[in-house]
Amino acid sequence: VRVFLGSPVSPGFGEGPAFLYRGLETLLLIAHEAPPGDPAVERARFTDAVAAARRELRALGRQIEKDYGRAEGRILHAQAFMLDDPLFQATVRSRLERGNGSAEAAVATAMTRLETRFRESADPYIRERALDVHDIGLRVLHHLADRAHHPLGRLPDGVVLLAEELLPSDTAFLDPARVRAIVTERGGDSSHVAILARALGIPAVTQVAGLLDAIETGDAVAVDGEAGRVIHQIEVAAHAEYARHALAYRSATDTVREQPYAEPVTRDGARVTLLANAAGPADVDAADRCGAAGIGLFRTEFFYLLRHEGVPEDEQAAAYRAMAARMGARPINIRTLDLAPDKLVPLAEDLPFARAPIRDRGVHHSLRHPELLRPQLRAILRAADPGRNLRILLPGVTGPRDVESVRALVEELRAELAAAGVIARTPPIGAMIETPPALLMAPEIARVADFLCIGTNDLLHYLFGHERQSGSADDTMYEPSLLRAIQSVVRAAAAAGKEVSLCGELAGAPAFTMLLLGLGLRILSMSPVRLGEIRYNLREITADDATTLADHALELGSAKEIRELLAAHASPWQRLVERRSAGS
Ligand code: PEP
Ligand code: MG
Repeated sequence: VRVFLGSPVSPGFGEGPAFLYRGLETLLLIAHEAPPGDPAVERARFTDAVAAARRELRALGRQIEKDYGRAEGRILHAQAFMLDDPLFQATVRSRLERGNGSAEAAVATAMTRLETRFRESADPYIRERALDVHDIGLRVLHHLADRAHHPLGRLPDGVVLLAEELLPSDTAFLDPARVRAIVTERGGDSSHVAILARALGIPAVTQVAGLLDAIETGDAVAVDGEAGRVIHQIEVAAHAEYARHALAYRSATDTVREQPYAEPVTRDGARVTLLANAAGPADVDAADRCGAAGIGLFRTEFFYLLRHEGVPEDEQAAAYRAMAARMGARPINIRTLDLAPDKLVPLAEDLPFARAPIRDRGVHHSLRHPELLRPQLRAILRAADPGRNLRILLPGVTGPRDVESVRALVEELRAELAAAGVIARTPPIGAMIETPPALLMAPEIARVADFLCIGTNDLLHYLFGHERQSGSADDTMYEPSLLRAIQSVVRAAAAAGKEVSLCGELAGAPAFTMLLLGLGLRILSMSPVRLGEIRYNLREITADDATTLADHALELGSAKEIRELLAAHASPWQRLVERRSAGS
């Protein structure tokens, strides 16, 4: 038995046999296991995957060229060219002609053969190209993967999924019903695996060092997503204790989730609006089931990443309209594309994008790419029917001009639609306060925006410089400067008479409910699974006590002291779990 400690990012308990996933390289490892299909079908799949990979490389190449110059773009254009390499094409096709095996197996074989040949070349330039071959092969395999062929779409039932990290492009294929828990070596509280696991209600622990070297597929693993423990080959005695905690946790969760429509009102009558974060239609359904008063943050990136290319306007409009229908008059803040390195597909990770500064990301990227922004805004306008409450939320804002530029564009698009006979109203436009410049400009931004939304995930990243994917198992979220930042934005919004919410992962952390309330927040947006716990917390506390706690916290000068202060005020939810655990 061995116990690994990591960062608990999604609550709950889950156990089962381990399944090790090694990212795209897994696609290569299991390519030979792909079930062979009809040769004609396999040939068509190969042709389609190559075409998709070529389109993707060309588009990516053009974008990089535009943003970073010809030299960088050329690498991708050269890769697109290599897809047509006669040897690669002939090797794959001859295998498929002979009718033996799947397109996956044929691609993997051809890729390995070509890679070996390049690697053995006397010419150092050719040797270097072996990496490109590998990259292209993986890209084609990635395009061949669909739910029926991707390893994450064909998981055995009831596994504990272990990986170095899981990116949005991996998890797109994940069949969540088969996963009891997720454990990764990387990924912080606001990494996408954490956000996803919470959205799906799967217990998850991240930042577990040495995991993949110590555990093998099939080994028994028990995960405690409350304490952040991963137990390898659990013993009988320890298992009884584990099961007791799991039971207590489940019973507490059942209690708080029983009443999704109980009002989130404190004992002294302060009313709080609880919204949900979502990244797709399924999350919107979950939010509705959990009693969310709206969608405080709808992340549209996931939507884009799965498509490899832009999402057509009609399709976006249909998706937004369907969400709006589900939520009725409740607000949905549709955040425009927030392109950032930690949200990109893995294959693009080492491209120059990854070093893009704030001014090239979020709303700035969108404003420089009207071919992406215009259809997205038009889709929102078209879906914003009367009686619905669709709103626009802008990521990575750095000053009032960003909001004004988008507003001008929205007006232009509205006129364009009106000329075509589509009458739309202008939705409210909100700004995320998630960069240091936005913090400093919050009063000015509050004047021109219709609402503000504090993004603590990126704020922590920018203020303290830690990578979101590598996370912070440390105390960063307790830093006094973060409290100051939140307080200053709440004040800026109040001075301008505008609404402000908090939609970073902090909003759904039960230990912070009282502090956030005390800092003046009355709107919190979180993963749907957290709604029950936070609602329970709110109903058990008073706004008066919360103010006292926040005042006290604001006087403290270190993260350690703030963490201790919050620990001394165990949240009502935490106390409920402890009571259930002691009683069972
Ligand atoms: C944030 O930065 O806090 C946020 C809510 O947005 P995201 O996690 O999508 O960057
Ligand atoms: Mg953000």
